Amino acid sequence: MYVKVNERDNVGVVIKDYKKGEDIGDGILALEDIPQAHKVALKNIRKGEEVIRYGVVLGYAINDIPKGTWINEFSLELPKSPSLDDLENECCKNIIYNLPKPIRQTFMGFKNPNGGYAGTRNILAIHTTVQCVTGVLNVAVKKIKEEILPKYPNVDDVVAINHAYGCGVAINALEARVPIRTLKNLISNPNFGGEIMVISLGCEKLTVDKLLDEKDNNKDNVIILQEKHGFKDMINSIIEMAEIKLACLNKRHREELPLSELCIGMQCGGSDAFSGVSANPSAGYASDMLVSAGATVMFSEVTEVRDGVHHIAKRCLEETTCKKLATEMRWYDNYLASAEVDRSANPTPGNKKGGLSNIVEKAMGSIAKSGSAPIVEVLSPAEKPTKHGLIYAATPASDIVCGPCQLASGITLQVFMTGRGTPYSLAAAPVVKVCSRNDLKLMWDDLIDINCGEIITGSKTIEEKGVELFNYILDVASGKKTLAEGYGLANDLCIFNPAPIT
Ligand code: CA
Repeated sequence: MYVKVNERDNVGVVIKDYKKGEDIGDGILALEDIPQAHKVALKNIRKGEEVIRYGVVLGYAINDIPKGTWINEFSLELPKSPSLDDLENECCKNIIYNLPKPIRQTFMGFKNPNGGYAGTRNILAIHTTVQCVTGVLNVAVKKIKEEILPKYPNVDDVVAINHAYGCGVAINALEARVPIRTLKNLISNPNFGGEIMVISLGCEKLTVDKLLDEKDNNKDNVIILQEKHGFKDMINSIIEMAEIKLACLNKRHREELPLSELCIGMQCGGSDAFSGVSANPSAGYASDMLVSAGATVMFSEVTEVRDGVHHIAKRCLEETTCKKLATEMRWYDNYLASAEVDRSANPTPGNKKGGLSNIVEKAMGSIAKSGSAPIVEVLSPAEKPTKHGLIYAATPASDIVCGPCQLASGITLQVFMTGRGTPYSLAAAPVVKVCSRNDLKLMWDDLIDINCGEIITGSKTIEEKGVELFNYILDVASGKKTLAEGYGLANDLCIFNPAPIT
């Protein structure tokens, strides 16, 4: 059996491993062994002809491809990336207002004392200006979690916001604005409840005033290690300040809130050729329900929308949004070009093993997670949104870089789709893991929250899995722990730094 997405497609994706000579369906015999999730030619395709999946041209046949042949990265020549000129002319050409109706309108969240989005978790975040303080902070956090946190039952966790930025960097370089904005905006993530705590060394380039407003930059919120009398004094100071902040956070409690106070992110990683037909469209369906109920949903990953940029532009409500979309794409084209690479650098060996031949195929599957709602805003990496609804937040596609960018933009929960499997998670927000195929759920039953493989085998529809995911997202936003949270899994935060290191 195989999955064909669009009428125009001349390739299908096989749902299991096939041996040479086996019947794949519709009388198509495998001309060679074809691994699960890989493409098979449904017709004879001549050299130079278009190879079509999702109704779009993935590339051009390098050689004649007889019906029943395995199509992979070596079979295709990559088409040119779509032009970014006049992208604003595409504006509003595909605006869909008739979205799936939400079956719930509220969640149980932590209202933010400073207004804005509500938290899904109540976390004491301890921020850092520079990597130099990380060792000391980690010792202090371990002690706080063991000895102090249990006294404050309404607080979920204490999280050190460690990173590799802060010194030995060209702090005045134009693009230093990206890591600085990321670290600054992370401080006001709604899951941190408006409490501010920053650990600085004292001689670093990223000075505290670059992260905090003047009114917040004081001894109540900032500890400078070079002003402390040795290690014990450092640890005691951190614990003392943490206890004051924990007492404030402990007063927060969950209350029923409208979904307009929820802001979540969508991401995928370790994708395979099923991701775009099962996990990502289900996430898109859930996203449409959330947006329809007033929630804010961000999707990201520049190199994975670059080849579908016209589809995205058609869903933008304003010309200025299309122009910003083009600006972000162009910036990234130049960023890649400066290293003499292009978007074809994106697919990983694992993606290819999972049947994704090139970036066009990966992109068409990736943007499925944005559903069909109109796009109200485009953000530069780590910017804060000004609107509610579906937002394109430009970030690198790298999972561990996209995560902190979206957190800085204010997401309080992330939905993460995977086909090959990755145990990726975040400490600062719950990450709901969704897989594209049954085999992965069987292998990683205790890591994957939602399995969309049932769509591939036909026992469930995209709508059914979309509704299941919508409900699960709201349950997790309201306090239910994801499987990864139960184990305390979390990746390091890798801050996007396109500027030079000195
Ligand atoms: Ca990713």
